[in-house]
Parts: sequence; structure tokens; C-alpha cells
Amino acid sequence: MGITPASSDSASRPSQNLPPGMVIGPDGKPCKICTAFRNWKPKASTASMAALATAANLRSDQRSDSQPAYCPPDVEQLGRATWTFLHTTAAYYPARPTTQQRANMLNLLHSLPVLYPCSHCASHLGETMRTNPPDVSGRVALSRWLCERHNEVNERLGKDKFDCAKVDERWKDGPPDGSCD
Ligand SMILES: Cc1cc2nc3c(=O)[nH]c(=O)nc-3n(C[C@H](O)[C@H](O)[C@H](O)COP(=O)(O)OP(=O)(O)OC[C@H]3O[C@@H](n4cnc5c(N)ncnc54)[C@H](O)[C@@H]3O)c2cc1C
Repeated sequence: MGITPASSDSASRPSQNLPPGMVIGPDGKPCKICTAFRNWKPKASTASMAALATAANLRSDQRSDSQPAYCPPDVEQLGRATWTFLHTTAAYYPARPTTQQRANMLNLLHSLPVLYPCSHCASHLGETMRTNPPDVSGRVALSRWLCERHNEVNERLGKDKFDCAKVDERWKDGPPDGSCD
């Protein structure tokens, strides 16, 4: 059974009064795990935001768009946690993996387009994995492959590309100045 991609395309949105950023899931209902928390509710006017910020004794630019820590994750929290797991796992993958380790890694990666709860994220990943099959031949190749897939998502979301030469610094060794040691 495949996953039908959710849609962020406003043309396919039902006529119900939904916030502009809310993504519709494969079941035709608003999909919270496909949507950033800040897009779940319509934005308040600038004036009312300023009033709220004042009431909370915060500057308006200090307002948090995130949920309380006890809430279920949104698409961004889930994404950050998943990338952390995947990049870290790649960073500690053997330089010369056994046949079994390669098979296990392939199983893990091929499970994502089927099981990842954000269905349109899963669908995009499945497409890119078909044209760029995972390279599980060793630590360096896997880290680069993953960095490139992450950069494709970054690009799609209008974010800067990450310098893939720095994956070990980011996910294993920390910066040369020792500030993470
Ligand atoms: C498989 C997958 C598909 C996704 N698809 C979507 C989607 O279609 N739509 C959507 O809205 N969200 C998607 N997400 C979530 C999205 O990628 C981000 O996780 C989320 O927007 C939070 O972004 P962020 O800016 O906090 O940093 P993240 O993108 O989560 O990155 C976390 C950290 O990783 C490091 N990093 C950034 N880029 C790279 C890279 N290329 N290589 C190595 N390290 C890097 C940076 O230090 C960054 O702070 C997806 C997540 C995953 C795991």
C-alpha cells in the first residue's frame, strides 16, 4: 500500500475555512504532521500581535512560533529530529560496512518513503530515492548522499544549501575551535 502525497497546493484545498499554510493530508483532512505549527492558526493582525506581546512582556520579535514542549511534533520538529538521527547514524556508519550492515542501512532508508508520517515529505523522498539510489558503500559516501537529499529539501523550502564538506564537523567532530568539546 502506497502513500498518497498530501497537497500543499491551494487549488486542491477543500472549501472549508482553513489557515493558508495548512496542508491537506491524503484523507482530505487537515494534516498537522505535514504542517508547521505557526501555520495551524490564521495569523493575528500585527496590532493584535503587538498587544499580545506587550501583555506577555515580550518584544513582538521575541514571540515564539513554537508549541509547548509537551505537544506532539509539527513538520519542523519531526524533520529536525529525523535529520539529526539520519545524519548522526551516517556519521557513525562504518567506513567498510559488512554486507549485513549495508542491507540494514538500505532497509532503514527504503522504509522512510513508506513510513515517514509527513506524507508529502515521504512522497518527495521516494521520488528522489528512485533517481538517486542510496550509496551505502561506506561512511563518507552515505553522509554525502544524505547531505545531498537534505539539500534538495532545503532548496524546495527556499533555504540555503548546506556545504556537504562540513557534514563531519556538524554531525561528528564539532568545529575546529573546540567549542563543542
Ligand atoms: C526526509 C524528510 C523530508 C522532508 N520534507 C519536507 C517537506 O517536503 N516539506 C517541509 O515543510 N518539511 C520537510 N521536512 C522537514 C524539513 O527538512 C526541516 O527539517 C524543517 O523545515 C526544520 O528545518 P530547520 O531549518 O530547523 O533545519 P533542518 O533542515 O531540520 O536541519 C537541521 C540541521 O541540519 C543541518 N543541515 C541542514 N542541511 C543539511 C544538509 N544538507 N546536510 C547535513 N546537515 C544539514 C543544519 O545544521 C540544520 O540546523 C522533511 C524532513 C525530512 C527528514
